[in-house]
Amino acid sequence: MTDRVPAPRVAVVGGGVLGVATAAALAAEGADVTLVTDTRLGSGASGRSLSWLNSYGRRSGAYHELRMLGLDRYRTLAARTHAAGWLRFDGGLTWAPAGSPERHRVDFEHMRQNGYDAQWLTREEVADMTPGVDPAAIPDEGAIFNPSEGWVELPPLIDHLVQQLHARGGTVVEHAGPSTIVVEGDRVTAVTTASGDIHEVDAAVLATGPAVPATVASLGIAIPDATPISLLVRTPPVDVALRAVLNTPRVAVRPTPDGSLVLDSGWSEREIVVHEDGGFQVEDSTVQGLLREASAVLEGNPTLELASYGAGPKPIPGDGEPVVGQLPGIGGYHVLFTHSGATLALILGELLAREVLTDTPSPLLQSFRPARFAA
Ligand SMILES: Cc1cc2nc3c(=O)[nH]c(=O)nc-3n(C[C@H](O)[C@H](O)[C@H](O)COP(=O)(O)OP(=O)(O)OC[C@H]3O[C@@H](n4cnc5c(N)ncnc54)[C@H](O)[C@@H]3O)c2cc1C
Repeated sequence: MTDRVPAPRVAVVGGGVLGVATAAALAAEGADVTLVTDTRLGSGASGRSLSWLNSYGRRSGAYHELRMLGLDRYRTLAARTHAAGWLRFDGGLTWAPAGSPERHRVDFEHMRQNGYDAQWLTREEVADMTPGVDPAAIPDEGAIFNPSEGWVELPPLIDHLVQQLHARGGTVVEHAGPSTIVVEGDRVTAVTTASGDIHEVDAAVLATGPAVPATVASLGIAIPDATPISLLVRTPPVDVALRAVLNTPRVAVRPTPDGSLVLDSGWSEREIVVHEDGGFQVEDSTVQGLLREASAVLEGNPTLELASYGAGPKPIPGDGEPVVGQLPGIGGYHVLFTHSGATLALILGELLAREVLTDTPSPLLQSFRPARFAA
């Protein structure tokens, strides 16, 4: 049997999907949980995410395993809730620029060797396996279909997790303003909000997305940061048969619960003008270009209009892998900072909650510690 800290009071700072998933998991394990967030829940990256659920491509074995466990938890959630509208496993379809399939071939072999479900489809086969795609957009070399992938719309997931948190007695404080984890000596003692409320705690989790590296830097701990400013464009509901998530050379497209589409891409992200003071500007030509690129990969090439777009930081650690766990030398101070937080939210929340409450490190998180950068 594992020893547990008696009557643990835990605060989670940050109301994105990672903070909310951790808070819900902590409450499920019996902690007295308070989640504080500066504005409203889902106001950060989680409110403007493509949220493709996957372990596509090549990565370390440990990271692949973590992502597969992430997918596993979503499968369970899909089976046990009425999440059908906002959580789907209709596969992912990826293709390379015409004439350059080499990297995708290597990815494909890697995925197959690791037992990750991947099929190389001809243009003709795509229509049978995944509807709604313009066959003319697919290169002669074909495309990779990953039937086990899916997508999640994060705001309804956050609502679902908050309901679970509330059902287990947890508290959510929105519009708390920038909140701070207080360290006295070598331990966390409290979380304070901008309005001066003090929540005394035994442990705290910093899940403030892109703000994590700067906060821990003020404690003398370096987490390299590769966070870019990103862009997610949303169309109004549109009559297309698309079910899978598309990852194409010029645009990624995923369906949503209300029939609209969300779009992003690397080139449109790089076109965002970032000013020296941190402000940024999205050009109309970028948004229109992304809508055109999406139209070009969809069956019938529908005219796509803009409903809204969200731009802002997409949290990415410097080495691309998750940063999870207790800060070295500060008892009770845990952090969560990762890309692919949609895929990883449920499993990271679960594993971290158990670490917070039992002080027992999970072997699954061993490669992802904040201390790895100290070396
Ligand atoms: C365009 C885009 C595409 C993406 N595509 C994918 C994908 O396909 N698959 C995938 O798995 N993942 C994807 N991601 C990544 C995923 O969405 C993120 O990893 C995840 O949403 C991050 O969640 P978070 O809780 O760490 O951060 P956030 O959602 O940013 O939440 C942090 C919250 O903390 C609050 N906060 C900040 N500072 C403070 C403070 N001092 N006090 C209180 N509150 C504070 C913020 O207001 C914010 O609400 C994508 C992200 C983006 C932006």
